Amino acid sequence: MRAGSVSFEQTKWVWMNGQCVPWTEANIHVSAYTLHYGRGVFEGLRCYQTVSGPALFRVDSHLDRFHASARTYRIEIPYTSGQLIDAICEVIRRNEFESCYVRPICYLGSKNLGIRATCPVEVAILAWPWETLLGDEGKEGGVRVTVSPWVKFNSRMIPTTAKACGQYLNSILAVGDALDRGFEEALLLDGDGFIAEGSGENIFLVKNGQIVTNDERHSILLGVTRDAVIKIASDLGYDVEMRAISLDDLLDADEAFFTGTAAEVVPIREVDGSTIGQGGRGPVTKKIQNIFSLATNGGDERYHDWLHHVYS
Ligand code: PMP
Repeated sequence: MRAGSVSFEQTKWVWMNGQCVPWTEANIHVSAYTLHYGRGVFEGLRCYQTVSGPALFRVDSHLDRFHASARTYRIEIPYTSGQLIDAICEVIRRNEFESCYVRPICYLGSKNLGIRATCPVEVAILAWPWETLLGDEGKEGGVRVTVSPWVKFNSRMIPTTAKACGQYLNSILAVGDALDRGFEEALLLDGDGFIAEGSGENIFLVKNGQIVTNDERHSILLGVTRDAVIKIASDLGYDVEMRAISLDDLLDADEAFFTGTAAEVVPIREVDGSTIGQGGRGPVTKKIQNIFSLATNGGDERYHDWLHHVYS
């Protein structure tokens, strides 16, 4: 399977509005509000295989963000986080997955149209096996990225800290352009010309043993993987500085990497033909990748709190 491609073939059940239904019955009407205007919110989290069975990684943080994104768009998700965790576990168990990607979505269904319309709030949860977004090769050797001609929208236009359906048009334009030009991922700048983030990843730099990342002042989604990596890096004894990152900072970095649920931790080896550091996976990135991997598979006790076992 090509890196980034998705296969739904193994998914038999979808959780929809309170129950698991067969894949072929998980449908919505063409008049659904969210289809027309993009007002809906979603999450992406992973379930990893551990020695104690499949476990959700940082599900509480993902569901907190899910509810926060919904509030931003004046949508009230009709389920508590506890109910949603039960639903996620149920759909993973029904599909008999050992590991998978999980996509809860809250959308507005069909009643009437016009942006002021009030429509029923619906929730669905999909799960499917999905290898890492940028491929195992990317995780080991790094990816080649390009600075996008598409600027990341800022939070006075659309709040970047919310994970809402329509907001992804910006990422789709950027990644489409990057792939057309032969790159693996796009890097979006904010309105001031500083680096914001990838189409679906946050960014970190390593310079002289210090780790740098940006924050919501630079039009990013506050990633759950970003938060995990900040904690892991601090626990490893690194100083993590949060500040604006210029393109020069990136080009001058010893190492750079992306973080995201779909991509996980991926080195950036080249930006528009300029090599970053030694042009592969640097030692700090590798160390963080290793601990991140242990955190997700239950191999590091310090991070057991980040796992919620599906069969517990
Ligand atoms: N930025 C954007 C725009 C994203 O879509 C994602 C993926 N959710 C991220 C950053 C990384 O967030 P997380 O680590 O929570 O997956």
